[in-house]
Amino acid sequence: MKLLEGKTAVITGAARGIGKAIAIKLAEHGANVAITDLQYDDAAKEVEKQLQDMGVKAKAYASDASKYDETQELIDEIQKEFGSIDVLVNNAGITQDTLMMRMTEQQWDTVISVNLKSVFNFTKAAQKYMLKQRSGSIVNMSSVVGVSGNAGQANYSASKAGIIGFTKSVAKEVGSRNIRCNAIAPGFIITEMTGKLPEDVKKSWEQQIPLRRGGTPEDVANTTLFLASELSSYVSGQVVNVCGAMNT
Ligand code: NAD
Repeated sequence: MKLLEGKTAVITGAARGIGKAIAIKLAEHGANVAITDLQYDDAAKEVEKQLQDMGVKAKAYASDASKYDETQELIDEIQKEFGSIDVLVNNAGITQDTLMMRMTEQQWDTVISVNLKSVFNFTKAAQKYMLKQRSGSIVNMSSVVGVSGNAGQANYSASKAGIIGFTKSVAKEVGSRNIRCNAIAPGFIITEMTGKLPEDVKKSWEQQIPLRRGGTPEDVANTTLFLASELSSYVSGQVVNVCGAMNT
């Protein structure tokens, strides 16, 4: 059974990693997919083609999710091109890890802007169409460290905790219009973001995980599919940990 036939999904930061896996998973379930990333480069073109080859309408857009005006224009363009926006996945994110003692103002501002302001930018732009059609599902990519904190990631953890507060507020604000808003808190997922960590750090992460493995982008994509589709029609304002029981 396809769960998103005829729906349009917008996924930010989807040229690789978790965003790419989500785009493929939603397309497998019949969704037409608009993906964004910083550049319309080979990686973005490859995902775009892979999605089109699956028989859905798909288009990749170059977009800096942290830019407010640019985002409002982009969402208007996507609405015109696809005819609706039913699912928004705010996935784009970066890390600039360092201890507080060394963290610069720029490292703070950049991470908050890319990870948190982007969620405001896209939700604000898309909700006007969701409000009109009286339906929609928004899925925001938080992190376990947004729930629990992590030394060396004060900027990142703050941005991901901010996403949780934002998600709960939006769920309460637009629930009466049949719009749901949830967050996913992935644990240690093996992507380029985590791939740059030293091997011993990766090993020690894995040893702390009760399921004894890092998660895959597909693990997160499956949860996103659930939250994007009617399978979760009575779930809103929640944070779903996808972390192999690392956070309980
Ligand atoms: P990734 O680095 O592999 O992919 C992130 C994508 O976002 C990249 O394609 C990048 O170009 C894009 N991006 C960066 N800045 C952008 C901007 N300003 N505008 C648009 N796109 C931008 O990372 P990932 O591991 O796939 O992570 C995806 C999301 O999941 C992030 O929000 C991340 O914080 C979150 N997350 C990841 C993990 C993990 O273990 N990998 C854990 C918890 C949460």
